[in-house]
Amino acid sequence: MNETNNTGVLKQIPVFYTPKMVANFSSFSPSAGKPARVVGAWQRLGLPIEIIDFEPVSADQFKMVHNPGYVDRVLSCEVNNGFKNKLPEVAASLHYTSGSMLAAAREAIRNGRVASAPCSGFHHARFFSGFGFCTFNGLMVTAMVLKAEGLVDQVGILDFDMHDGDGTEELILQHHAESWVEHYTAGREYEAAFQADDFLSRIRERVEEMRDCDVILYQAGADPHINDPFGGFLTTEQLRERDRLVFEAAHSLGIPIAWNLAGGYQEDKGGGIQAVLDIHNNTMIECVAVYQEQG
Ligand SMILES: [Zn+2]
Repeated sequence: MNETNNTGVLKQIPVFYTPKMVANFSSFSPSAGKPARVVGAWQRLGLPIEIIDFEPVSADQFKMVHNPGYVDRVLSCEVNNGFKNKLPEVAASLHYTSGSMLAAAREAIRNGRVASAPCSGFHHARFFSGFGFCTFNGLMVTAMVLKAEGLVDQVGILDFDMHDGDGTEELILQHHAESWVEHYTAGREYEAAFQADDFLSRIRERVEEMRDCDVILYQAGADPHINDPFGGFLTTEQLRERDRLVFEAAHSLGIPIAWNLAGGYQEDKGGGIQAVLDIHNNTMIECVAVYQEQG
């Protein structure tokens, strides 16, 4: 496990990745295949990351958040998952995408700083159903499991994906978690380029509103990009500034933060996703800059 050195600096950013998170199939969303491509890009850049294996989330843990019948029928491929198919490889990967988020949150709490979960597909998932490439809500699964284990009193969910975290919001109400889950979803307020400066200028206060949380779960979505087919209002450089501001605020306030990839749908003519990789690369570069250089 990643250790800090005697000056308290994280030597490497912990990344909770396994190939079992990846389901390769044809979908408009590259999300299911994205973890491998993103982790590969980070490794090619020589970024100081440590790949760590982790336990999958169990069906019973999904049932702490979702309707038990929905969980069983998705996992047995009887009803559509969030990608609108019933593929067993997607069902199998779901234990690991949520597992990555849960493991990263545990590690961020343990090291007191940061960990990365290179996964997607959470915030539109509701109690009875999935939607928009989201099947189970790994954000709320993480919050509920950590709460049940007594590892947290309060959890922050900072959702800077392009889209409204409507599934998260429904689940907070379903489970009467309004008092202990602090949820902010930018997708409810921001959609156009003229709002970019306002968005960036308010990031510090968004994080400060989570100062009483034991961990922040941060959705560092790539789909707010202005060229995203489902976006967007920020340039690549503004997205990088977003991530720097989030990490600097969480670091200076001493709030552990576990972050994931969330959405991002730009494709090259050849089917590559370099524009999306550039955004996720920048997130890790800013994470390293804050946590490795500032301790
Ligand atoms: Zn999105």
